[in-house]
Amino acid sequence: MNLPVLAVVIPCYNEADCISDTIQRLLEVLNIMQKNNEISDKSYIFCVDDGSIDKTWQLIDKYNKETNLKVKGIRFSRNFGNQNAIIAGLFEASKFEADCYITIDADLQQDENKISEFVNKYKNGAQIVFGIRNDRKTDNFFKKSTALVFYKLMNILGVKLKVNHSDYRLVSKNIIETLKKFPETNMFLRGIFNDLGFNKDYVNFDVKPRKAGNTKFTPFSLLSLALNGITSFSIVPLRVVSFIGLLMSVISFWVGISAFIAKVFSGNVIPGWATIVVALGFIGGVQILCTGIIGEYLGQLFQEVKSRPRYIIQDRIN
Ligand code: UDP
Ligand code: MG
Repeated sequence: MNLPVLAVVIPCYNEADCISDTIQRLLEVLNIMQKNNEISDKSYIFCVDDGSIDKTWQLIDKYNKETNLKVKGIRFSRNFGNQNAIIAGLFEASKFEADCYITIDADLQQDENKISEFVNKYKNGAQIVFGIRNDRKTDNFFKKSTALVFYKLMNILGVKLKVNHSDYRLVSKNIIETLKKFPETNMFLRGIFNDLGFNKDYVNFDVKPRKAGNTKFTPFSLLSLALNGITSFSIVPLRVVSFIGLLMSVISFWVGISAFIAKVFSGNVIPGWATIVVALGFIGGVQILCTGIIGEYLGQLFQEVKSRPRYIIQDRIN
């Protein structure tokens, strides 16, 4: 069997502080794997600069020249977000015809020594290999608890995600060709890969602290990722809205009937403005929440209908 060509795809957003170390370390890993006859010497690294405003692109360019094109890359015209950077990385890297592709963060928080294990699982027939982090020690309390709520919620909504899988993942050429058939603008990769079928496998790894720089996610961008994940994968919230509406109509119908009966038979209606205020407030709140949920889906539709490109490429180095 021919040795597989491996492409390592790295999304980078303002990673000038750590991208050099990361590229050097990954080149070392590729080198060792080539020497051990695990992968072909045509294997390469593919960086996606997601609209960085620091020196990230210049550094990628420098390694491109120094390594005789072993480091390739593209630069977006602006920041399009981590999911789009990963998608673009996979699609654009596939033009150089690798057999398998692994995505890894630019801060090397994910254990790069496990790449060989991913490739082994690929050789044993897995088309998608998910990296699963052993724990969340490096995450702060906020991230840990929101992640837990997100996974639990997705599970309740019927979307079975692999818990503690971030975007450290190997996919085969075949999977990328399948992914290209998905026209949606907003892709929630963890959900889509889980949903594709095919032979899957898992690699457990330890998370290290970030080498340099700060996290590129804000609480707002994490919330937006979570909402996209939910609204692009589950219509259960919309059903819940309809169900709440129905339930409320039935209840108010019965309240009306019983008030009528009370009036006719006892003539005794209790004056209670507090109850009314509470009920009004509650119903108002439920209505706003329901409208909000519908709005989220409408927003999702709005973006899909426009079907704008997921990203715009400004520069390429091959
Ligand atoms: N990233 C990106 N675009 C963004 C935000 C992040 O390409 O808009 C990249 C970032 O450079 C890194 C990866 O996505 O390679 C994960 O980001 P980060 O390490 O900041 O996230 P965390 O590990 O804190 O969840
Ligand atoms: Mg990180």
